[in-house]
Amino acid sequence: MEIFQSHRVEMISIAVALVAIGAGTAFYFYITKKPKGCLDPENFKEYKLVKRTELSHNVAKFKFALPTPNSVLGLPIGQHMSCRGQDSVGEEVVKPYTPTTLDSDIGYFELVIKMYPQGRMSHHFSEMREGDYLAVKGPKGRFKYQPNQVRAFGMIAGGTGITPMFQVTRAILENPDDKTKIHLIYANVTYEDILLKEEIDNLAIIFSNQFNVYYVLNQPPEGWEGGMGFISKEMIQSHCPPPALDVQILRCGPPPMNKAMAAHLNDLGYTAQMQFQF
Ligand SMILES: Cc1cc2nc3c(=O)[nH]c(=O)nc-3n(C[C@H](O)[C@H](O)[C@H](O)COP(=O)(O)OP(=O)(O)OC[C@H]3O[C@@H](n4cnc5c(N)ncnc54)[C@H](O)[C@@H]3O)c2cc1C
Repeated sequence: MEIFQSHRVEMISIAVALVAIGAGTAFYFYITKKPKGCLDPENFKEYKLVKRTELSHNVAKFKFALPTPNSVLGLPIGQHMSCRGQDSVGEEVVKPYTPTTLDSDIGYFELVIKMYPQGRMSHHFSEMREGDYLAVKGPKGRFKYQPNQVRAFGMIAGGTGITPMFQVTRAILENPDDKTKIHLIYANVTYEDILLKEEIDNLAIIFSNQFNVYYVLNQPPEGWEGGMGFISKEMIQSHCPPPALDVQILRCGPPPMNKAMAAHLNDLGYTAQMQFQF
């Protein structure tokens, strides 16, 4: 009888220990599990426009709700999404866009969009009102971000080409373990065309030993102290890290600018591995 009693106590102890281990493991997986992203690479999914903020006469910030307040978009850093709309004659158009938000922004994502008078997808965004839905598919893109993957990034952006740079910059600066230095050259036609200027300037002040920016304007206002004209080889030499195996220069802008920048970078000795075009 005593043997039976002691076995019973042992069995209960083992059962309690097993339940505790099981519950602990389940809790660990629950708290460490990354929330699943909402994007679908194969199918367009619709997201509701909940806020539209005009930033200038042709630029607006569009805030879209994710399916629940706890949802995350699930877009890897530096990748983009395909957005589908209709142009002014009702034909379908699909174009790439990079949100300015990260997966640390829960329950929504934001796009900063410049609308060109003749632009096909621009027409769709111009017409969008709060309560409308945008069809989005993704993620797309070849850029793979790993913290500290290089010692320094040079970034050359033109116009709306700032959005992927802004996303990568935010991800690096918001990660205290990522020590990557960032040198951004950002070109526009006029001062008013500069997108996200306040946000970029704030980051440059807060992270002054890790991030700096050099603005270049084609038609600068009087008293302008930044670069003037088009981005030159000399500007790249002065404001980007020199060629090295642990350096990469990212570029994103209109096609003629990308072509000109690729030629400058090649002439300055940056190998193909040291360059990336979004
Ligand atoms: C990776 C990636 C991310 C992008 N992210 C964004 C983003 O976050 N926000 C955003 O607004 N755009 C972004 N773009 C640009 C976007 O994909 C479209 O090219 C842009 O919205 C214009 O499309 P559209 O159909 O309106 O113009 P289109 O019909 O293609 O062009 C019509 C006319 O618009 C003018 N135009 C178009 N594009 C440009 C340009 N880049 N520079 C100067 N004039 C131009 C030209 O006059 C052109 O003839 C991104 C592009 C890439 C490659």
